Amino acid sequence: LVQLDRVTKKYGEHVVLRDIDLEVRQHEVITLIGASGSGKSTLLRCVNGLEEIQGGRILFDGDVVSGPGVDLVALRRQVGMVFQSFNLFPHMSVLKNCTVAPVKNGQVNEATARTAAMEMLQRVGLADKADSFPDRLSGGQQQRVAIARSLLMQPRVLLLDEITSALDPELVVEVLDLVRELAHGGMTMILTTHEMSFAREISDRVCFLSRGTIVEQGPPEQIFGAPVEAATQQFLRRVT
Ligand code: ATP
Ligand code: MG
Repeated sequence: LVQLDRVTKKYGEHVVLRDIDLEVRQHEVITLIGASGSGKSTLLRCVNGLEEIQGGRILFDGDVVSGPGVDLVALRRQVGMVFQSFNLFPHMSVLKNCTVAPVKNGQVNEATARTAAMEMLQRVGLADKADSFPDRLSGGQQQRVAIARSLLMQPRVLLLDEITSALDPELVVEVLDLVRELAHGGMTMILTTHEMSFAREISDRVCFLSRGTIVEQGPPEQIFGAPVEAATQQFLRRVT
């Protein structure tokens, strides 16, 4: 569904991603792990066109979605992204946060959007917060709204960048439960996380990045249980 073909990303002369090859199949859950600064967030940002790439290409469903002339609005409708910092609109109610984009994009009318949003909020356990403003919600609740909002765009792939890093430990579980449910429902996802046990449990494939390259990838049992590369072994010794 998503294919990265020798993708290179530079900031000036600084190479942040180097010749990345990665193929994500439908229903697959891929987790990127690696030290801070290894390029995980940048890789996700390239996939939904938040960053331009300087080499290679990215394909979505067989179409090239990198480079000039790409319809970024259309791309981001298919490729949703949720960030560490939630990025909810503070001046809008939870419900409004969920309906504003689909209505603005002309995907649905206001009434349909509201119905869909209420169903989605129900699903993430927050129907009773529909009329609240984000600052009245816990971090975990805000993050679940952010995920609900992304899902309402009916994306075919969801990119999740450290979505539990800003949360207090007791709130991490409710967000991870939701992600787990999405995975079981067949959602295609690429995520980054520092929660190694969660990565191990949920991923079909884990990619270890170091200095902008995928050093090693494989099923979680292999990456966590029997990593081949010295760099992977060293990283995992440090974080687990
Ligand atoms: P973390 O685990 O801390 O989130 P990461 O693996 O997500 O790290 P990135 O945020 O992708 O790492 O950053 C990769 C490299 O790109 C880092 O060296 C960073 O300094 C650099 N970088 C990121 N964004 C920019 C930018 N806007 N301008 C210049 N350099 C940047
Ligand atoms: Mg990051």
